[in-house]
Amino acid sequence: MSNQPASALASPRFCNTGTFMRIPHMTEAKDLDFAIFGIPFDTASSYRSGSRFGPAAIRSISAMMKPNNVIMGVNILENLRGADYGDVNVTPGYIHPTYEAIEKELQPIVDAGIIPIGLGGDHSITLGEMRAVAKKYGPIAMVHFDSHSDICDEVFGQKYNHGTPFRRALEEGLVDASHSIQIGMRGSLYDPNEHQIARDLGYDLIPAHEVRKMGFEALIERIKARVGDKPVFLTFDIDFVDPAYAPGTGTPEVGGFTSYETLELIRALKDLNFVAFDVVEVLPAFDSGEITAYMAANICFEFISILAVQKKEREAKK
Ligand code: MN
Ligand code: MN
Repeated sequence: MSNQPASALASPRFCNTGTFMRIPHMTEAKDLDFAIFGIPFDTASSYRSGSRFGPAAIRSISAMMKPNNVIMGVNILENLRGADYGDVNVTPGYIHPTYEAIEKELQPIVDAGIIPIGLGGDHSITLGEMRAVAKKYGPIAMVHFDSHSDICDEVFGQKYNHGTPFRRALEEGLVDASHSIQIGMRGSLYDPNEHQIARDLGYDLIPAHEVRKMGFEALIERIKARVGDKPVFLTFDIDFVDPAYAPGTGTPEVGGFTSYETLELIRALKDLNFVAFDVVEVLPAFDSGEITAYMAANICFEFISILAVQKKEREAKK
């Protein structure tokens, strides 16, 4: 039995508790393929705060999503079972207890082979998710969409911030840099060598202007070649998308990618061995017409569609 959302023909979309796409709320790992988590922590933001309200905004507008992905040829909830686990009980202002809570909540899910889909929160939360994921799979490949590389050693003299998670992830052995790639970096920098520093750490980093030069097809080939068949954590900072399409975020950078390009890009990665996803840095107070939250909801929809396509292909082979 699949977990179908309530039919919008019988129950209006704006009724009832706001789970992601109105799929059931559950807190027990039972025969699930994916689990949605809100991680409403924004204390590690360096500029605007307020992404703690991101998960609620994404869930609210996700009532607009319907289960059929026509481009991918799947009904995401027909052969996948998913649940909305609600939110991790974060500790506002305190990052380490928050990391503990994230890890504690995700570990049983990850250990059961269920794919976690995290809704941020600022980008610091990804380190907590990666700790749980790497405990099961070992050092993972990371596919990171962002306008920032988030590999600073310290921000405000602090090691744990939304500008540092992918430096810490390497130090903690959570990520295999040689199979990881960062895409979309742009904007002014304090350190002109920042992109080179990421490469020196072992990451492949493709700034936005190089993506434009090489084109999307070459980019997709580069991602696939880099990752291979490693277990992949796809982490998506909404500021990868141009602020014209996604204004509701904490540290926007102009000169980014359109909503259409973004969705196309994610779909093109459907053959990777995904084990976890997140979408972070949605800040509803700066959003306009819920477009940023809707973008994030659609990104999650494409993640789930990939899982549906993969499961369908696996079952066809049986
Ligand atoms: Mn980021
Ligand atoms: Mn960013």
